[in-house]
Amino acid sequence: MNIRKNIIVFGPPGSGKGTFASQIRNVFNKIIHISTGDIFRENVKKKTKLGLKAKEYMEKGELVPDVIVNAMIRKVLSSKDAKQNGFILDGYPRNLDQSKILDDITDINLFLLLEIPRDILKKRILGRFICNNCNEIYNIYLKKPIKEKKENEWICDNCGALIKFKQRRDDTVKTLENRLFIYDRNAIPIIDYYTEKGIVKRIDATNTLAFSEEEIKKIINS
Ligand code: AMP
Repeated sequence: MNIRKNIIVFGPPGSGKGTFASQIRNVFNKIIHISTGDIFRENVKKKTKLGLKAKEYMEKGELVPDVIVNAMIRKVLSSKDAKQNGFILDGYPRNLDQSKILDDITDINLFLLLEIPRDILKKRILGRFICNNCNEIYNIYLKKPIKEKKENEWICDNCGALIKFKQRRDDTVKTLENRLFIYDRNAIPIIDYYTEKGIVKRIDATNTLAFSEEEIKKIINS
């Protein structure tokens, strides 16, 4: 199925933005999923110029400076695919200035606000690990891969690669507190901004993995 919609998936770190965005993409398969965090992590891994610049901020749980993020997002959103098929932005905007830059580049039709209690959120973040090969997201408390090889080693359900439990470098208790603090400070003006545009939809994200295809279609289309 195809739609052409420009969507923001917004919520605190650990609210399941990436998982939810992937679910939308599974239903509307041409839509592009753009995760600024994933793009940065990929660049850090490959030691690119962008990755080297972003790394120090990411490890402290701070935001990468706007000049760097905005240049990157302009480039990604100028692609033919993004223009033709629509996109889901996950991790951008992170402050009001980024929202305004976004309005300069394109139109946003839907702002999905993921809401989740803080205790569940902390468990999600501190237990999270990803497959280094395909970026599939798992959780040591909530969603382990099906096939266990030995203690703390599994076969990725999605791509079959071997994965070990290893936290993201920015998923520690200290950086988590910092990331939540930054989120709380920036979220209200962003949510107000899109509420004024009349495009905010609130989603109970306590259990995002449980959304059916029908529910996803209803959220996106109604
Ligand atoms: P995420 O995976 O979305 O939690 O992003 C991981 C890290 O990448 C964040 O803690 C920031 O350091 C950086 N980052 C991702 N998106 C942005 C953004 N829109 N603005 C600034 N920094 C970002």
